[in-house]
Amino acid sequence: MELNQEGKVLQDIFELIQDWVKEGRNPEAKVIDYHKPEELREKLNLGLGSEGSDGEMLVQVREYLKYAVRTNHSSYLNQLFGGFNFPAFIGEVITSLTNTSMYTYEVAPVATLMEKEIIQKMISYTGWKTGEGALMTGGSNTNLVAMLVARNTKFPEAKLEGLSALPKLAIFVSERSHFSMLKGANTIGVGQNGVFKVALDANGRMRGDALENAIQKALSEGFTPLMICCTSGTTETGSFDAIDEAADVAQRHNIWLHVDGSWGGSAILSAKRQYLFDGLDRADSFSWNPHKLMNIPLVCSALLIKSEGTMGESIRTHAADYIYHENDTSEYDFGPNSLQCGRRVDSLKLWLAWKYFGDNGYASRIEHLFDLASRATQIVEESPELELMFTTESLNVNFRFITPEGIDSDRFNESLRYRLLKNGKAMVNYCRLDSGLSIRLILLNPDLTSADIKQFFNLFIEEGKALLKEHRSLTA
Ligand SMILES: *Cc1c(COP(=O)(O)O)cnc(C)c1O
Repeated sequence: MELNQEGKVLQDIFELIQDWVKEGRNPEAKVIDYHKPEELREKLNLGLGSEGSDGEMLVQVREYLKYAVRTNHSSYLNQLFGGFNFPAFIGEVITSLTNTSMYTYEVAPVATLMEKEIIQKMISYTGWKTGEGALMTGGSNTNLVAMLVARNTKFPEAKLEGLSALPKLAIFVSERSHFSMLKGANTIGVGQNGVFKVALDANGRMRGDALENAIQKALSEGFTPLMICCTSGTTETGSFDAIDEAADVAQRHNIWLHVDGSWGGSAILSAKRQYLFDGLDRADSFSWNPHKLMNIPLVCSALLIKSEGTMGESIRTHAADYIYHENDTSEYDFGPNSLQCGRRVDSLKLWLAWKYFGDNGYASRIEHLFDLASRATQIVEESPELELMFTTESLNVNFRFITPEGIDSDRFNESLRYRLLKNGKAMVNYCRLDSGLSIRLILLNPDLTSADIKQFFNLFIEEGKALLKEHRSLTA
């Protein structure tokens, strides 16, 4: 492609970007132009041919955007990522432009220093006196690496000898912990049956007495306890396990304490919410996932570990001297301590965003979201058509449309949610709680206002009534 032509395309793309951001703020715009896969395949020219077609890129990008989900839209309340974070977006663009790998200081000098700075900054919130960490490819992977480091710290022989050096290991998590804990257990040789799920209290938090019982049970079955994992913000209900209580148990039995803050971890940025993390200073590791609550474009996830040197000790191979040369900057190289070889630069976008908003800016973004969650909860409580399905502790609001006698509430709410998706008016997800199917509203886009939330509920109720009417005419 000629440079002039590229320049023209870049200008046009710039306009598409502006339109995209603007449309996200237009409540009349659809959050998604939804089609089933077969239909969508018909609409798109997906085939990859033998001849190039470089003149059509703009058309192709337009088409992509037409059917993409507007995760920055005021009616996108669906999952644990989204929002448009301007400085982070710029960071993402520059990251691609300067395409490099984050394994040595030599090929990524500024990005490496930024990552170090970010990790130190994050550690400053934990209450630890020492610490290390790195950015990884998602919260699931930070949980996995935490398990691996816990395993190899307790059983250093495992690094060379593998599973044969290990007893039967057990990991303790709450019943509503994230499924990545099971995946991690599978990967590091604990196995999914080595994951003990601990009962919850009425607020969705892991019960301390039940944790102690689970450990006793595991011991009596011949397991060696490896890790206790507290969840700071459960995926479904946004509940925060009592870390202090788990730390007492961990200390008593000398077990690694991990805190999975993949969803709620960023709430620590607000002084007002730091009580949710009481006891984190006693934990051994912490997953903090900026691509969720800090609105950094996917992926951007940090694993922090209290004991310095353990990550390298657990992972380093002393091979690949074609990449890693002993020199005066090798202590800055992230690669050797990572499960990856090539590492994407995830530091620039987070660093730019943090610099742009500052600690205080981020704190008030988080506080604003907590306010929105209170507002949403209040609307549910005041609406005769709706009921709250779980006490709101943080940024997950669980509710549903109340159905009259004779209508299956779970199926009705599932259809209502699908109806909103199909007509593109709103995206919101659901989960299953003890009390039944629950619509799970997630507050994570700080550009939203109280009026946006009110508008969503008006729409939800309106569509719910319409669905009820259709239902009645069908069954009449
Ligand atoms: C989202 C989530 C994860 C996984 O994070 P990814 O970045 O999606 O891999 C882990 N734990 C909890 C509690 C989560 O909500």
